[in-house]
Amino acid sequence: MTAPEADPTPIEITPSRVAEVGGVQVRRALPRRTRRTVGAWCFADHMGPVRAEGRASLGPGASPEDPDSSVGVQVGPHPHVGLQTVTWLVAGELLHRDSLGSEQEIRAGQLNLMTAGHGVSHAEESTGRRQGELHGIQLWVAQPEATRHGAPAFQHHAHLPQVEFDQATATVLVGDFAAACSPARRDTNHVGVELDLRRGRSVVPVIAGYEYAIVVLAGGVDLGGQRVVPGELAYLGSGRKELAVSTAEGARLLLLGGEPFESPILMWWNFVARTREEMDAARSDWEGGTGRFGDTGSQLGRIPAPPTPWSSSP
Ligand code: MN
Repeated sequence: MTAPEADPTPIEITPSRVAEVGGVQVRRALPRRTRRTVGAWCFADHMGPVRAEGRASLGPGASPEDPDSSVGVQVGPHPHVGLQTVTWLVAGELLHRDSLGSEQEIRAGQLNLMTAGHGVSHAEESTGRRQGELHGIQLWVAQPEATRHGAPAFQHHAHLPQVEFDQATATVLVGDFAAACSPARRDTNHVGVELDLRRGRSVVPVIAGYEYAIVVLAGGVDLGGQRVVPGELAYLGSGRKELAVSTAEGARLLLLGGEPFESPILMWWNFVARTREEMDAARSDWEGGTGRFGDTGSQLGRIPAPPTPWSSSP
């Protein structure tokens, strides 16, 4: 055993909230009432692992209600503003379609990064192939004032830089880690790294000016004497230069970090904004089909916006 190191801030462990997205149960690690953002990271849904059998088509005969013919995640067209979606799979595959005309399959170890800016819409579908297991995480990054009103964009990165150290293989999804730099776009100083940990102790280099959190995707880790498992967010605060992580059984986790975000944000449904007026306008543009959010080309049903909690009408 190694003595616990003196921690700059105590580690805060928050249980995730169970939610359902596209027919699959997810564990929502962010946002939580007591922890809204980590750097610019503002949303984290850990999905699976679940069995996800493919099917030949989504045409007549498809019955997502039938538990024996689960088609995995099926999320119909829906809009976003003011954020980036970061999709990362540990197992399985998905098909992304968006209003920019992107039609992109994503597999384990690849990154899909969609920037919403002023407005974009997308759908996430089963690829239709038999795939066994689906396991991954979808994250959102709040866009700063400088880019949140800008044009939408989409990137797919099939290959990302990896760093080996101690008992770890790190894959850099976004930002800089050790000497590696992800090619993915970033509008603020933030980082997202998958750590695949073999048994033993690894010392993870971190930046003192960033705040960090960890989401465990598989296995369990010991952080400063506390055990962290899937279904929790471990918030580490800032001020560290390194972080010792131990695992008895091996573990896979996501390290999220960044400079504390420039301003408070307002999150509602699929939108990140600053005011209710911006939310109302985005909602009304989606419901009214103004063209702001384009067309994804998906055959899945479009997802209607719920009423805003501050609206007086039912
Ligand atoms: Mn989405």
